[in-house]
Amino acid sequence: MRAMVLDGPGRPLVERELSEPEPAAGQLLVRVRACGVCRTDLHVVDGELPDPKLPLVLGHQIVGEVVGEDRLVGIPWLGWACGECRYCLSGRENLCDFARFTGYALDGGYAELAVADERFCLEIPSGYDDAELAPLLCAGLIGYRALRLAGDAERVGLYGFGSSAHLIAQVARFEGRRVFAFTRAGDEETQAFARSLGAEWAGASDAAPPEELDAAILFAPAGELVPAALRVLAKGGRVVCAGIHMSDIPSFPYELLWGERSVSSVANLTRRDGVEFLELAPKVPVQVQVETLPLAEANEALARMRSGQVRGSLVLVP
Ligand SMILES: [Zn+2]
Ligand SMILES: [Zn+2]
Repeated sequence: MRAMVLDGPGRPLVERELSEPEPAAGQLLVRVRACGVCRTDLHVVDGELPDPKLPLVLGHQIVGEVVGEDRLVGIPWLGWACGECRYCLSGRENLCDFARFTGYALDGGYAELAVADERFCLEIPSGYDDAELAPLLCAGLIGYRALRLAGDAERVGLYGFGSSAHLIAQVARFEGRRVFAFTRAGDEETQAFARSLGAEWAGASDAAPPEELDAAILFAPAGELVPAALRVLAKGGRVVCAGIHMSDIPSFPYELLWGERSVSSVANLTRRDGVEFLELAPKVPVQVQVETLPLAEANEALARMRSGQVRGSLVLVP
């Protein structure tokens, strides 16, 4: 099968012919129809996440057809959890000490074929085409978990209006929340995109919104956004950091945290998040803005994500 392979951090992916993966007991063999590109892929390529499997096939937003069956499945980031540790036993398999992640510890979907543990595959909602489904599997799911961690916040700030934010802004509006979008300074195109999806205000990430916010979800991996977001939160508000990696958070006066404000992170997903979000998405209905690229252009896709030249989500199609 054809695959785009990472041989080591800092290197471009190489297009290569690999032998077909053989499913172990309990695994499905899947023909990849679409695989979303996630910022996490970039963190793996850049060596910001420790000890990836090498060589590695990236990609953890996989929509595929089970070989030999007339059935589509979604393969997300959580590829396996132990089921026995204190996290797994308390409904927090996203925190499992032994979890294995797709496109990181396990080969992923930047390829024509993939294998996955059937218990961790997700059922796909109808009404979407293959490329639209892919970003729901991480951008959508992680955004959903982040929004849940924001509690019942009414005024929600979204920092970094990319793949996740464009999906979750619609869910937030559907739930009756008010959305405020923060982008790179001067990125008026993305600010207009955010308004078109229901944001009532959009501006630069260091700008003050017209009123205080009850929660801020950070999708951009920039640590300086934490104090910036705390600065615009109402008392009791929460900052939720949704990325797997972030640059260092600069020190800030305790006064910004005072008033029962809090800062938390979101780590991975549970299968329950997947089921809940994929049931909810068609009800909103979440519209997915996608641009597809051929699998062989995975390096170009990653470069565009790095420079922020993406509206909505990028998806690779083998
Ligand atoms: Zn992801
Ligand atoms: Zn576990």
